[in-house]
Amino acid sequence: MKQGISLFSFTDSTDVRWMFEHAKKAGYDGVEPVMSENGYLNPSTPEKDILAMRRMAEDMGLEIPSVGVWSLWENNLVSDSPAIREKAFGIVEKQIEAAHLLGADTILVVPGYVGCSFASKPEKIRYDVAYARSQEAAHHKHFRFTLTTNGVLLDDEVTEFCNREMHNVVLSLDGRKAVHDRLRKNYAGQGSYDLIVPKFQRFVQQRGDRDYYIRGTFTHENTDFTNDIFHMADLGFTELSMEPVVSPPGEPWALTEEDLPVLFEQYEILAREMLKREEEGRPFTFYHYMLDLEGGPCLHKRMSGCGSGTEYLAVTPWGELFPCHQFVNDPAYSMGDVWKGVTNTTMGEKFHRCNVVANPACRDCWARLYCAGGCAANAYHASGDINGTYEYGCELFKKRIECAIMIKAAQAGRPR
Ligand code: SF4
Ligand code: SF4
Repeated sequence: MKQGISLFSFTDSTDVRWMFEHAKKAGYDGVEPVMSENGYLNPSTPEKDILAMRRMAEDMGLEIPSVGVWSLWENNLVSDSPAIREKAFGIVEKQIEAAHLLGADTILVVPGYVGCSFASKPEKIRYDVAYARSQEAAHHKHFRFTLTTNGVLLDDEVTEFCNREMHNVVLSLDGRKAVHDRLRKNYAGQGSYDLIVPKFQRFVQQRGDRDYYIRGTFTHENTDFTNDIFHMADLGFTELSMEPVVSPPGEPWALTEEDLPVLFEQYEILAREMLKREEEGRPFTFYHYMLDLEGGPCLHKRMSGCGSGTEYLAVTPWGELFPCHQFVNDPAYSMGDVWKGVTNTTMGEKFHRCNVVANPACRDCWARLYCAGGCAANAYHASGDINGTYEYGCELFKKRIECAIMIKAAQAGRPR
């Protein structure tokens, strides 16, 4: 077995010849030069100097099997800062080039750290973010993080983290104070509206042009939900979404058949008000009215929906895999875990077959290529089968698409 010494054992300002001679004298077969910011081997070291280092080692009978690194302790490959990550990738590239010139076939890469006791300014990075970033290069993927928050613990530190790391942030607000506070209470029974609205306003101000959504839920108790959407818009928020509650019948907040005509009218009021506000120069976006009539998703996405159980899985904190968050804790829908992967492949196939072609109700539905078969979880909770139909949801969905098309038609008919 051959033995080598990393030149990490010396300082990076030590003379290279001196280090090689001492390594040889000590009986080592090889040496590992280390790349650092300003040392004898740095990202700017000229090619001729690196080749001279190689010849010096060969003349002394020393091998150079690998190139180490110090700079990646100062420039973390999983840094929260994109600029530092880019610099760190550049360092690895330089290491590879240096290794090639030195005849080494191995480089040491520090794939990322979450804290470090010996770097001069070590960043503290969350484990999950560091792990995902370290996997990006290996799998040629880019991870996009999204955070959903009820706002209670939103402070400047969380805001700064979100603005660095989160591709999108969903802020939960149900609308008017009385509506919001009815269901969103703390342990003392107090509603959170007064606490979170100023935080959300500050957050959105600091968010700049990055994506966010204010998302609420309407129930039987606020079927006039457009007033909640307009309230959010009047608070200064422009990216809005409002979902109908999905709840077992009989709950006080569950939507009823009698509510349907009211809700249809509400969606029409919303569409008209959006057009009006747009003309007045104070537009806002409503997630369900975002419709691309010329492009939009590919045919596969239009037929197979959200991808739950096939292209998309929920991972629990204990590592178990489910088709989506709505199935978590239902043992019948457990698909495997992060250690063994997807072991319940039958479930994957079942979700694969859950599409607009397989579902008889969808086959004849005019909205099928906008809807892609609806939400499997809602279908399951309403009918007991993911291939079933949540008819109430279908009615609301079709009304929303009708209104979205009406908005497009109205916009197209405006004088240019
Ligand atoms: S609206 Fe209902 S019936 Fe129509 S495609 Fe969607 S899930 Fe199927
Ligand atoms: S909740 Fe419904 S739409 Fe969302 S991921 Fe699950 S199945 Fe898909």
